[in-house]
Amino acid sequence: MREELLSNPVFSMAVEQFDRVADFLNLEPEIRERCKWPKRIITVTVPIKRDDGSTEVFFGHRVQHHLTRGPVKGGLRYHPEVDVGEVAALAMWMNWKCALLGLPFGGGKGGICCKPMEMSPGELERMTRRFTMEMIPFIGPEIDVMAPDMGTNEQTMAWITDTYSTHFGHLVPSIVTGKPLTLQGSEGRTRATGHGVAFLASVALGKIGIKTDEATAIIQGFGNVGVHAAETLSSYGVKITGISDVSGAIWNQEGIDIFKLREYTAKHQVLEGFPGVEKIDPAEMILQECDILAPCAVGHVITEANAAALKCRVLAEGANGPTTPGADRIIEKRDDIFVIPDVLCNAGGVTVSYFEWVQNLQRFQWTEREVISKLETKLQTAFEQVTSCAKRNKIPHRMASQAIAISTVAGAKTSRGLFP
Ligand code: NAD
Repeated sequence: MREELLSNPVFSMAVEQFDRVADFLNLEPEIRERCKWPKRIITVTVPIKRDDGSTEVFFGHRVQHHLTRGPVKGGLRYHPEVDVGEVAALAMWMNWKCALLGLPFGGGKGGICCKPMEMSPGELERMTRRFTMEMIPFIGPEIDVMAPDMGTNEQTMAWITDTYSTHFGHLVPSIVTGKPLTLQGSEGRTRATGHGVAFLASVALGKIGIKTDEATAIIQGFGNVGVHAAETLSSYGVKITGISDVSGAIWNQEGIDIFKLREYTAKHQVLEGFPGVEKIDPAEMILQECDILAPCAVGHVITEANAAALKCRVLAEGANGPTTPGADRIIEKRDDIFVIPDVLCNAGGVTVSYFEWVQNLQRFQWTEREVISKLETKLQTAFEQVTSCAKRNKIPHRMASQAIAISTVAGAKTSRGLFP
């Protein structure tokens, strides 16, 4: 299994990052090995009846990186490229994210290898319910709490809640997060990630002496994260000059009206055709001068080919893995870009997931204002820890984030000792 995992490029990248930080922390070899490898790797087959009457067997995976500090927390994705190595890498990164934010969770991730866009709602429901049944021995509010990810949504979480609750004979809302409000989802969950990106970007601007109402921003991606990042930044007075999505990119030096754009994309799905703006090449857009550049779409968009040409003051990583290690090395040598690494920048989602789980366990329902204020407190604390660790040790923010997270996990393992 060790070799199989290491042969996966995404997992080996996660291990390479881990080893670099473990060297920096001087982790004992015994603790290093225990932190690196996932605790549980579960693969199940998921047979379902297709709408045409045939039977198809899908493969589902769930990796639970650690249960040392609490149940594992992480998304469930439906995608044709899901494989166990990538799922294991994503579980490891979730582990560091939860530890960095001080959430009492380990990291987990799961996925079913399928083409959700080509499946009917009935097929998706049958696959989700059967997967949940297969996973019942391995999940639970104190063991493993899933959430939406690529290809899954609130409805998927509602089916998991229903299947799990039916099995146990009573409603168990704490089995997943990212549920609809009708099933005790949390206020503020939908906008949590994007709001967190914008909030941290504004804190970073403050650190480098730029006022938000004099700042400009460029946002790549206008989905859940991009929309809410843009809305919050606009509410702070930041002028959003460029936005892109899968259909292209738009530009307005005087600022794009985010609320009108949101109405437009709600009707047309994509931003192509939005009136009163110029078109711009999406690859050129991210190289324009701005105070905040927020990649909020896909991974690997800031590479060795464009890192030297960036003209932003703050790089706020809303997406997971937008910056390649090669680009990182270039940015690290420049001292004019303040990087808010993904593990910190997009942690608003998992933080409000944690709040949802807490509310469910205690049968509370907090207001959106309470949720957002608690979210900002947690993000601000983690931000201060990362920036002061980076300054103290003269290391980049990304490395500082992982160093804090890995030493938290290592500390918990040391305290618990090695059983037996
Ligand atoms: P989403 O599917 O809602 O939106 C993705 C957006 O990116 C869409 O506007 C799409 O058109 C655009 N896009 C796709 N390819 C693009 C390209 N090549 N160039 C420009 N835009 C492109 O997804 P989301 O939930 O907003 O997630 C975006 C990123 O944030 C992902 O990397 C995800 O892993 C990460 N993330 C999301 C959350 C969350 O709570 N949703 C939490 C943490 C991290």
